Amino acid sequence: MSTRSYRDWVAKGRPFRLARPVAELVTWAKSAGVSVLGTIGNEEHLTKDIPEDHTPFSSTAWPVPLPGYVVCAIDLANVRLLGEKIEASARRGELPWLKYMNHSGRNISFKGGTPVTTSSRDHHVHLSVRSDWCDRSIGSFDPWGTTKGETMTIEKGDLRDIAEEVAQRLTTRDIWPNGYADRATNPTIALGTFVRNTAGDLAAVKAQLARLEARPPVQLDRAMLVDVLTEVIGKVDGR
Ligand SMILES: [Zn+2]
Repeated sequence: MSTRSYRDWVAKGRPFRLARPVAELVTWAKSAGVSVLGTIGNEEHLTKDIPEDHTPFSSTAWPVPLPGYVVCAIDLANVRLLGEKIEASARRGELPWLKYMNHSGRNISFKGGTPVTTSSRDHHVHLSVRSDWCDRSIGSFDPWGTTKGETMTIEKGDLRDIAEEVAQRLTTRDIWPNGYADRATNPTIALGTFVRNTAGDLAAVKAQLARLEARPPVQLDRAMLVDVLTEVIGKVDGR
C-alpha cells in the first residue's frame, strides 16, 4: 500500500532534497572513508504505510513539519566503532541536530531531555535529523577525533563490518538505490572478488565501493553471499 503523501509526491515528479545535515554527512563520509549506504529510500520505504525519515514526506518528522520534500536520514557503514563514537558524542550533547540514531541493534532517541534506548534491527549507523535543522549546518563533525587528511588503515574487524553490512543490504534490499550489487556480471562473484582484492587496503575498498554503489540493485542469494564472504573473512583473519 502507498500513502496519499506518496501519491502526491509522485504526481509532482518525485522532487526531493537532502536536509543540510544529511548532505554534510555525505561529504564527511566520503572524506573519512565511510560508505554511505543510503539517504532516500527505495520504493519499499517510500510506499510504507507510515513513511519515515528516508522519505521526503516523513510522517515522523519532529519537532516541526518538514519544510518541503526533504530527506532527513542517512545510513552509514558502522566501521571503526562509528556508531559507538557518534552515540557517545550525542550523549555529551555535541550533536543538537540529531533526532535519533540506530546502530549495533540499538535505537537511541534524543527527542527528550534524557536519551532513551530501545532495540533496533539496524546494525549499520542510521542517523535521523531534527526537522527544525533541515537548513542548518552541523558544523564540524569528527566522531573519532582525528585530524583531516590523516591516513587510516582498515582493520580486520572493519572488513568484517563492511562484509556483514554488504551482505545484509544485498539480501534484505534495505536501502536502495545506493547498493553494492553488480548487474553486469554474477553479483556474488563480483562482490567476493571486490572484498578479496581489496582486503586490508582502505583506499581500494573505498574506490571499489564507490564503483559498486553506482550500479543498480539485483536480487541475491543470501547463502551464496555468506559463503563467499566467509571465505574472504577467513582469509583476512589468517593474515
Ligand atoms: Zn536508515
